[in-house]
Amino acid sequence: SNGLMEGKRGLIMGVANNRSIAWGIAKALADAGAEIALTYQGDALRKRVEPLAGELDALLAGHCDVTDESTIDAVFETLAAHWGQIDFVVHAIAFSDKDELTGRYVETSRANFTKTMDISVFSLTAITARAEKLMTDGGSILTLTYYGAEKVMPHYNVMGVAKAALEASVRYLAVDLGNKAIRVNAISAGPIKTLAASGIGDFRYILKWNEYNAPLKRSVSVEEVGQSALYLLSDMSKGVTGEVHHVDCGYHTVGMKAVDAPDI
Ligand code: NAD
Repeated sequence: SNGLMEGKRGLIMGVANNRSIAWGIAKALADAGAEIALTYQGDALRKRVEPLAGELDALLAGHCDVTDESTIDAVFETLAAHWGQIDFVVHAIAFSDKDELTGRYVETSRANFTKTMDISVFSLTAITARAEKLMTDGGSILTLTYYGAEKVMPHYNVMGVAKAALEASVRYLAVDLGNKAIRVNAISAGPIKTLAASGIGDFRYILKWNEYNAPLKRSVSVEEVGQSALYLLSDMSKGVTGEVHHVDCGYHTVGMKAVDAPDI
């Protein structure tokens, strides 16, 4: 352990399995000495998350579906009872109907637009409001976003619109909580093959495109996102808030296809 998170405790939301970005972050934080609590969404995921929590000696803070306020409250009541105070929260949650993560954005339905925004955007605000009460000694809140917030990416559609709103939320929350020394930041991760990503149309093509065209000529790993999260959640980034930090092998800096990139 590098000790960066020694004495710090916090909540990580969004572990679905051992390929989740949230799991990469959980491992990096535990390695650095953090005490961690995990939530899971429903009984099906409990079976996967429970053994993972065991691996890190993490507290299982229970079921949380962010569309159900009572389950968010229950999680924070559990944290209040166990720890009283917390230092960090990771929000690695997003959802959209996969039928609308393909084809044209203009065909997005009102129902899925609302659901996508509720789960992928409002949840950060709902969670931050509860976290603020337990972050009596300052804190760091981190969410996960994607380049589709900034530029149009194929099939990302309503999720791109949601990520743009999520990134704006990070800035507003950073201002609201700044005077309590609570920081709010986002990591804009490059494409990674996870459960959520498998819902996006032509995801393999998008992954390959990034590998051929990112400055580092490869895709990013959950371990690397974990290391950058460690920076944003530890005192190493004490002067950083309201930031969207790209962890994407540099892809966001590139203006066009590399001349030597193969056709896919
Ligand atoms: P994942 O499928 O492992 O994680 C998504 C998580 O969201 C799951 O744990 C799921 O339970 C949770 N979730 C969905 N709806 C929920 C609800 N109603 N209540 C509570 N939890 C809910 O996939 P991931 O790729 O690790 O996704 C984590 C975050 O990273 C997401 O915000 C995603 O948009 C973002 N992200 C992913 C990529 C990528 O390429 N995989 C790139 C950039 C950003």
